[in-house]
Amino acid sequence: MKLDAKSMRYLTGEDFRVLAGVEAGSRNHEVVPTPLIVQLSGLRGGSGVHKSISNLAKINLIAKVKNAKYDGYRLTYGGLDYLALNTHQKQKSIYSVGNQIGVGKESDIIVVAAADGSQRIMKIHRLGRISFRTVKTNRDYLRNRSTGSWMYMSRLAAIKEFAFMTALRNNGFPVPEPIAQNRHTIVMSLIDAFPLRQISTVGKPAQLYAELISMIMELARYGLIHGDFNEFNILIKEEQDLKAKGKAPANAEDDNDNVRLVPILIDFPQMVSVDHVNAEMYFDRDVNCIKRYFQRRYHFTSDDPGPFFADAKKQLKANPGKRLDVEVEASGFSRKMARELEKYMKEVGVDGDADNEERNDSNEDDEDDDDYNSSGEEDDNHEGQQEEGSQDQDLGLDTHKLKELK
Ligand code: ADP
Ligand code: MG
Repeated sequence: MKLDAKSMRYLTGEDFRVLAGVEAGSRNHEVVPTPLIVQLSGLRGGSGVHKSISNLAKINLIAKVKNAKYDGYRLTYGGLDYLALNTHQKQKSIYSVGNQIGVGKESDIIVVAAADGSQRIMKIHRLGRISFRTVKTNRDYLRNRSTGSWMYMSRLAAIKEFAFMTALRNNGFPVPEPIAQNRHTIVMSLIDAFPLRQISTVGKPAQLYAELISMIMELARYGLIHGDFNEFNILIKEEQDLKAKGKAPANAEDDNDNVRLVPILIDFPQMVSVDHVNAEMYFDRDVNCIKRYFQRRYHFTSDDPGPFFADAKKQLKANPGKRLDVEVEASGFSRKMARELEKYMKEVGVDGDADNEERNDSNEDDEDDDDYNSSGEEDDNHEGQQEEGSQDQDLGLDTHKLKELK
């Protein structure tokens, strides 16, 4: 499932009202009956509405379903994408759509631009989509899933990610700037950096390691555990070290010394509170992920056995930061929503770490490996509808091909 924005500019306001009608109807109907679409679109049921319906079906934003009792339509992922894009565009958080730079198991990452030409990232959550690896275990579950559930769960993931990104950003954590959230999507600032996964050598691994571990501890001091703290979710920016600025580099090697690697953390749908029943497991997993990666990739092993969850708790007691887990709950991502999302993610097999194990084992020495972007295989079970997998592996933040929306 790939976002194809090229039809955006041809859709009329009426088309969008009809599309929104199908979306509204999907909340209670697996297949939305045509008369209900007409009613929900708020348009008079003339030929215009029916023309819109057939237009939308032709470009796969809605799909016709023949039911035993009646004919109707359901919203596709593409339809939901267009509704979100339309809102972002109206609210001026997106002006044009560029290349897809990432395809995760549960998300698509797309470069977009604001009206002033500055680049941003749109992350589209696709929680109903699963990789071929988990198809078998989830087939029965997914057969029974409804359009409403993947839409709702993907939206929950976006709401959660946006809420955490906002709280983290406001409290000085190095994360992208959250710009907007709509339906199953978020818009954030683009970080012009590569994931740690693609950094083959690090000048001072001990320093970077210490920084990452202290980030885990700092998160815990604010009541949080990332839950998927790994080399794909840490972007590394290269900055000139200001402290070293006074020293003029005598040669290229010295020059290298003056570059500071600054980690930026992304990807928050699986964050948990330090009070979560499995907090210790998640905390240890985050720490061990970094330990293992530094050992394997940079041959760096810390002399320190920890940190352990008990250390984090101790620190939290002695010197607590603002409780961001509590703040996020108050900001609208309720405990009930958190539980629902967690349950669903478990059921469809969303487990960042398990997945990374697999990636690490098969690609240990593969330096410029970008295969985390290539698991585009998918199985959209909706009435056997086939949608194309993504081949777009463009990791360079390429800005040509930006498509204007309207
Ligand atoms: P997923 O949940 O699918 O893992 P992520 O949020 O981790 O999604 O994003 C996947 C990849 O997309 C990241 O590893 C990174 O390379 C890229 N990416 C995501 N957000 C940004 C951003 N704000 N700036 C630059 N690259 C990003
Ligand atoms: Mg990720």
